[in-house]
Amino acid sequence: MLPIPNIFAIIITMIKRVAIFTDHADPLAPIGAGYMGGENVYVLELTRALSRLGWHTDVYTRASSLKTTHIAKVSQDARVIRLKAGPVSFVPRDKLFTYMPEYVESFLKFQKENKLEYLLIHGNYYFSGWAALQSAKVLGIPFVNTFHTLGIVRHNFLKDTDPSPHERIAIEKEIMTADNRIIATSPQMRDEMIRLYGTNPKKITVIPGGVNLNRFQPTPQLLARRVLHFSINRLIALYVGRIERRKGIDTLLEAVAELARLMPDKRPIMRCYIAGGNPKGHKSKVMEPSELKEWERLQGIVDKLGIKDIVRFLGGINRELLTFYYAAADVTVVPSYYEPFGLVPLESMASGTPVVASRVGGIQWTIRDGKSGYLVEPGNAKAFAERIRYLMTHATAHKLLRENGIERVKLFSWDNIADQMSDLYQDVVIDYFYRKAFHLANGNGEVKVHNKSPEKPITPQHGAATG
Ligand code: UDP
Repeated sequence: MLPIPNIFAIIITMIKRVAIFTDHADPLAPIGAGYMGGENVYVLELTRALSRLGWHTDVYTRASSLKTTHIAKVSQDARVIRLKAGPVSFVPRDKLFTYMPEYVESFLKFQKENKLEYLLIHGNYYFSGWAALQSAKVLGIPFVNTFHTLGIVRHNFLKDTDPSPHERIAIEKEIMTADNRIIATSPQMRDEMIRLYGTNPKKITVIPGGVNLNRFQPTPQLLARRVLHFSINRLIALYVGRIERRKGIDTLLEAVAELARLMPDKRPIMRCYIAGGNPKGHKSKVMEPSELKEWERLQGIVDKLGIKDIVRFLGGINRELLTFYYAAADVTVVPSYYEPFGLVPLESMASGTPVVASRVGGIQWTIRDGKSGYLVEPGNAKAFAERIRYLMTHATAHKLLRENGIERVKLFSWDNIADQMSDLYQDVVIDYFYRKAFHLANGNGEVKVHNKSPEKPITPQHGAATG
């Protein structure tokens, strides 16, 4: 057996190589429609920033189209590898957990054939977290997991309309009690993990999502409107994100109707732009069932409220153009019922546009109410309308929030976030191999720490719905 110091010498000379699991969120996929949103952006930006710190990153997703290549480069030291797991075609997210054993098998095969030595695996969400747990066990390496949403919290907000299956929470608990570290994207999420899942606080590290400050920059509103061919005299409220019930777009529509009542003379120049979703393809087979349902529901609300002249559904907006949409707007509205972190508020603030958002989840951390944006109760359309109106009509308040927002987002640059992640990775690896060496030295091959595994591990049931 190697003495403990020699084991550290080996770790230090190994390449800093991490496998990131994100089965449903290909970082190179077009963003905005279906389930392509924050997780895709998170993995892409984190991967690029980790490369700058010397990490070699392989991102493992599921092959879902014959048009994409098996392996694609993200940057010099980062690539995406699309594994065979289920049919090579679109599968609604609710059905993907069934294919996770095949995903694990494909990963282990690829890793072995290519003799890839990973220091650790970074899982995401709950079903890629499950795959990370299984794979890390086989390879005898540590893993960390980022939870982008929490099943219990989501269910508390959405109740009967939550499409997630009951297995989701059991899987989340299994990951949270395994021998690993958990990443909460906000202090609020950390508290929820402790309170609702009984997670050991020592296992949780808070590392937020970030914003690409090169892409999202303060741009003069008139310039942005010129780029987008928007009339300069409009009053614009913007929503950016997926078309999903938890995003609370219904509240925004009601707020717009209220705004039209509050400022009837301004109605002809009022616009509410909704960026995201796939309106042209809403009858296509590749649409998430939940998105289609929500899309139809929202059209019904627009008709009922009689605000067709104000509201425009733009579909998914290319990331290169997105900063101009934020900068062209007077206010960005984030009306979510539940938002564990929320990249959109950061992108808007970085582009110089104040945000009116629900007082939920991580938004309470990124936005300082009254200083770098406004927070109101989720679902309260009147309060949203009031704050939007205030920002549209008070230039001094608008300017103050804009300047404070631009300053605040500097804390959330991806370089800053990758620094924190790199520190965590190194800490986790050293801790794991130290314990491994210690156990070996004591004649026990298996590494066991922190918490016991739950009595009954979860495995996908064929045909079981998840989401
Ligand atoms: N997004 C985009 N184009 C769109 C709509 C959304 O690029 O048309 C991006 C948006 O800029 C953000 C991400 O999708 O980076 C959404 O992330 P967020 O954390 O706000 O929500 P999530 O998708 O994680 O629920």
